[in-house]
Amino acid sequence: MTAPARSLQQQEAIERFELLQVESYDVRLDLASDPATFGSVTTIRFTSTGGPTFVDLKPASIRSITLNGDRLDPELLERGRLPIDTLAGGNELVVDAVMPFRNDGEGLHRSVDPADGQHYVYGMSFLDAAPTIFACFDQPDLKAPYTFHVTAPVGWTVLGNAPGTEVEPGRWELETTRPLSTYFVTIVAGPYHLVREQHDGIPLGLSVRASLAAHLDKDADELFTMTRQCFDEYHRLFGIRYPFGAYHQAFVPEFNAGAMENPGCVTLRDNLVFASRVTRGSRIQRATTVAHEMAHQWFGNIVTPRWWDDLWLNESFAEYLGNRVTAEVTEYADAWTHVAYSRRQWGLVADQRPTTHAVAGNGAVDAVAALQSFDGISYAKGSTILKQVNTTLGDEVFFAGAVDHMTAHRFGNATMHDLFGAWQRAGAGDLSAFVDSWLLTAGPDTITLDREAGLVRRTPPVEHAADRTHALRVATHGPDGWELDPLDIVGPETPLHVGRRPVVFDPHEETWAVFVPDPVTIEGLKELLPQVTDPDLRAAAWNNVRSGFHNALIDPADVVDLLVASPPVEDTDDSQRHTLPWVLSQLMPLAPAGSIERLHEAFARRLPEAEPSSDLQLSTFRGAIRTATDAARLAAWQDGAGLPEGLALDLDLRWRILVRLASLGATTRDDLDRVLADDPTTVAKVEHTRAVASLPTAAAKAFAWDRFTGVVDVPNYEVVAAGLGMWRGGQDHLTAPYVERYFADLPATVEVRSGWVLALAAESFFPLLHADEHTLALATTLLADPDALPPAVRKRVVDMADETTRRIAIRTAFPHG
Ligand SMILES: [Zn+2]
Repeated sequence: MTAPARSLQQQEAIERFELLQVESYDVRLDLASDPATFGSVTTIRFTSTGGPTFVDLKPASIRSITLNGDRLDPELLERGRLPIDTLAGGNELVVDAVMPFRNDGEGLHRSVDPADGQHYVYGMSFLDAAPTIFACFDQPDLKAPYTFHVTAPVGWTVLGNAPGTEVEPGRWELETTRPLSTYFVTIVAGPYHLVREQHDGIPLGLSVRASLAAHLDKDADELFTMTRQCFDEYHRLFGIRYPFGAYHQAFVPEFNAGAMENPGCVTLRDNLVFASRVTRGSRIQRATTVAHEMAHQWFGNIVTPRWWDDLWLNESFAEYLGNRVTAEVTEYADAWTHVAYSRRQWGLVADQRPTTHAVAGNGAVDAVAALQSFDGISYAKGSTILKQVNTTLGDEVFFAGAVDHMTAHRFGNATMHDLFGAWQRAGAGDLSAFVDSWLLTAGPDTITLDREAGLVRRTPPVEHAADRTHALRVATHGPDGWELDPLDIVGPETPLHVGRRPVVFDPHEETWAVFVPDPVTIEGLKELLPQVTDPDLRAAAWNNVRSGFHNALIDPADVVDLLVASPPVEDTDDSQRHTLPWVLSQLMPLAPAGSIERLHEAFARRLPEAEPSSDLQLSTFRGAIRTATDAARLAAWQDGAGLPEGLALDLDLRWRILVRLASLGATTRDDLDRVLADDPTTVAKVEHTRAVASLPTAAAKAFAWDRFTGVVDVPNYEVVAAGLGMWRGGQDHLTAPYVERYFADLPATVEVRSGWVLALAAESFFPLLHADEHTLALATTLLADPDALPPAVRKRVVDMADETTRRIAIRTAFPHG
């Protein structure tokens, strides 16, 4: 095993920034020669004050290196760094290397579409993967223009941050880009299907694998329409024209994140091109993703963080503006409700973990450490705090400051300090106390109601003292229904007299805190929740309940009662898409026997009542599948029998049923293989992996484990699906041996994978199903050795150990057999 590349430290980045100015990158890629590797010849022109530094490079092999005409020894490359001695003045470095295609969603990812055998390539440079595509000074504040020349198989299309032309069959010349940071340089190449449009002088494009062409064509109007609406709104809000030429949205396979904001060529995961029927919730999620990446073109791409410690600001800004613009100008006016279900708990749970960190200013000594902080705190909490800033300052000052910031640092880099300075100049006043308590202090306050005392109590996190004020609204239910009143929480105790009324805190997500409903509210909600018509109030009630459960303050039996009493009524599936996985993975193992059957009955009862072909019918049917314990009924559905009018089985529903049948032991590996062979799409391949891993056989668990340890090398999505599939209730005797094996085998996974998927695998294979003292002791022992795990994996294990502790606490507080 070769030692992993060294991660760039902030101090090294500062020194290199002071030494160098990068004039240009000229990159020649040869994607046509070999399916495993590609040629990469990079010419970097830069000026220097003179002296030693290094260039970042993670190749398969090096053909030659030339600095200012002199050949350098390729053997000098060590752990991803090539030392060079620069001249004062102009320099030219030429690196001719062979680079590896990757299958983990980073670097230049190459995949084969199982539907037709076609190969597809895309570049993901974030956060430190650019040096596996081309030699570079890989840090965000050394921006430069790029010119790409790409040789690709004839018949491929090549896209990048700037438009390209096929000058002869298979040879593509791309225009020179604006100054870009290394982390958002991309190339997208393959026999992609393209759709083009135009808006306000901006060429627009969409692309997807050929096998998904019809599905993209079907939704192209919707995607182009929201893109146009967002462009108009961002132009109105900022008064700064989109400066990167064309705007292409490339839907690409096996993408780790939702999307990546590469200027001029955003990449998005291609399951956002819907190959099966989806509900409104999925469409809203896609819309907010589109709007989020567009916001980044201004905030992140025109002005970019100087260092990774300010990366949160990129995400918080794009998240806040993306959600707001989706709600205000697209057909999805209910985007904020979607966000309440999809994002709030992600952030709140992360903020309550032992690994919590301040939104800002958390050091990020190196790039790897920065990636650890790239979580629900950066997105959900940061966005809520920016929403508070906006409420406090008002749009005029908020955007005046932001525009001043983007104008002053156009195509350059800046810090959080610069932005807050711009806001203060725009008239915001002194924001330092706000920054200290909200952005520089980790953890959420916990807000509880003391009904008898007529008080709301505010408790800051024990390890992160803070004195935060909260301005929110509180919904109480009285004789005239729900009433909404403002509440300012200032100090540890705030009067609130609500008698015996049920209370839901912060239905409009105006602040950030853990709100815990008390027993009176829980009892009341069992009656009231089914009749709540305000979707934001419903979402907030569920967030309050989930926070209480997470802290062992609500009996799982009560949560089941609530679920059974109030099956979904929304015409989006947001409540289900985000509540049901939580229910099944976290709640059910702790709930009284018979709970899943009760839940299934609630779905089954509701199913015939739902309007045929409605989203509610589809989401209710999905809920019924996931909770079904009657294999015969599932098998009948699989054959198309007993389906409610308006429902037709498509690829998605077929595999949902198969995964459930597999976990009940009511199908076989042979059956699953046959269904995959009949319709071998990428989605089917991932679901097949999930289903096989779910089977109650020793062979199935070994199948999953081979993917964890890397004995069998599969793409990122299949690794995670195997992990999520293998731990199934009722199969404890089969999975128990893997509890110890997890802790024994985990450290070596760093030798078979890196980056995002390394951490994702660590989390998805963690034996949470066996959340007991034994598992906790094994985790504690492994964590006691500070060098046993790389930081990315360590963080996941610390968090999963915390989750284990919490589940033990819930079981102790509310034992159910
Ligand atoms: Zn983003």
